[in-house]
Amino acid sequence: MAQTFQNIRGTFDILPEASTTDGTTIAGSAAWQFVESTIRRVLSRFNLVEIRTPILEDTELIARGVGQHTDIVTKEMFAFERGEDHYVLRPEITAPVMRAYLQHHLQQRGGAQKLFYIGPCFRAERPQKGRYRQFHQFGCEVIGAEDPRADVEVIASMLAVYEELGIGRNELRINTLGSPETRPVYVDALKAHFEPHRARLSDVSRNRLDTNPLRILDTKEGNERELVAKAPRLIDFVDEESRAHYDQVKTLLDDLDIVYTEDPFLVRGLDYYTHTAFELENPALGAQRALAGGGRYDLLARDLGASRPVGAVGFAAGIERLFLALQAQNVVLPGTPVPDVFLVALGDVAARWVFREAQRLRREGLRVALDLKGRSMKAQMREADRQKAPSTLIVGDDELAAGVVQMKNMGSGDQIEIPISEVNAYVRGLRTETTTR
Ligand code: AMP
Repeated sequence: MAQTFQNIRGTFDILPEASTTDGTTIAGSAAWQFVESTIRRVLSRFNLVEIRTPILEDTELIARGVGQHTDIVTKEMFAFERGEDHYVLRPEITAPVMRAYLQHHLQQRGGAQKLFYIGPCFRAERPQKGRYRQFHQFGCEVIGAEDPRADVEVIASMLAVYEELGIGRNELRINTLGSPETRPVYVDALKAHFEPHRARLSDVSRNRLDTNPLRILDTKEGNERELVAKAPRLIDFVDEESRAHYDQVKTLLDDLDIVYTEDPFLVRGLDYYTHTAFELENPALGAQRALAGGGRYDLLARDLGASRPVGAVGFAAGIERLFLALQAQNVVLPGTPVPDVFLVALGDVAARWVFREAQRLRREGLRVALDLKGRSMKAQMREADRQKAPSTLIVGDDELAAGVVQMKNMGSGDQIEIPISEVNAYVRGLRTETTTR
């Protein structure tokens, strides 16, 4: 038997129509285009501009940018070497955007840089519903602004995308991680809290106790959750300045009528966060409820070699999760586009005319379909039907000689004869925005 190939587990194809991979529905390409263009449109309203960085990055950038002790860097990177060089398929896009900002001196464009991105990311996680090895993120980064307004604009731009797509019932949680100066004091307090219980902790948490105690707060283990509930709270350790920043963020969120809950144990898995941290969840999605997350990361630029910290805040959101949320709310998305008109030819001369006419009409901006298999007229009509073309233009050798064509409305079945000279005007009236099957 001939060998056939399959896509790699944890990745998926986006086909013209919706399909099912590992029990999950993957939307068709028209739905992806619709969602992507909505994201671009909504983020543009916030005066964010798109940045596109390579999928391949230097492994060291990601290790430093994401943090040596994170799951992403220790376990989930698709990294490889060629000669002396170490490459990684980007697992996220914040560190690459900051790299580009520093490399190209984007601050010289003036003001705060308001950038958004959209594209694939790669993590070697255990694939399951809503969790893939190649997935897609969109997000924004506002770089060069320390003002709490930047934090709130970032949150507002994230929420606007879900709102525009009709995804409601999301829950926004926020917290402050304080400043770099006070963090070590809190981390020590956390260590002191968990140390007496070391023996009761899971292997993962015991390891985190030594490497990154903040991450223990992320634990999903029931008995550890109880310990976490009694742990010292970051908010009791932050300095005046952080507290003022956090208070302003909350006031500005209130001003925009953005509903949130404060979660004193919300920490982000990534090391470079400072001050504001937030997460957006959709409870209907169960285990894959995390839609997006983000926060302020004033330390990233310095970690990447900048001579001083650069105020920056952003969010990253998963597009596959966004599709799950759309499905959970039965939002209807565009299907495969249908042609404006299907050209049917009967006879060789007519087939050549149709072939030329199709090109001409396409220049006019129409979506034009025609037969490419030399099929009978009946088969061509069937194909026009299958493609749900609202109209067909039917032409035979004899009609061509007489300078006329038949236009058939496929819905009503009505057919009229029109002179060739009027085809243009007639067909222009058929042009639709995006009719879909
Ligand atoms: P993170 O960069 O880990 O904060 O992830 C940001 C968002 O990306 C999450 O809230 C998810 O919506 C999405 N995400 C992260 N990892 C995956 C994955 N392996 N598959 C699908 N979506 C993911």
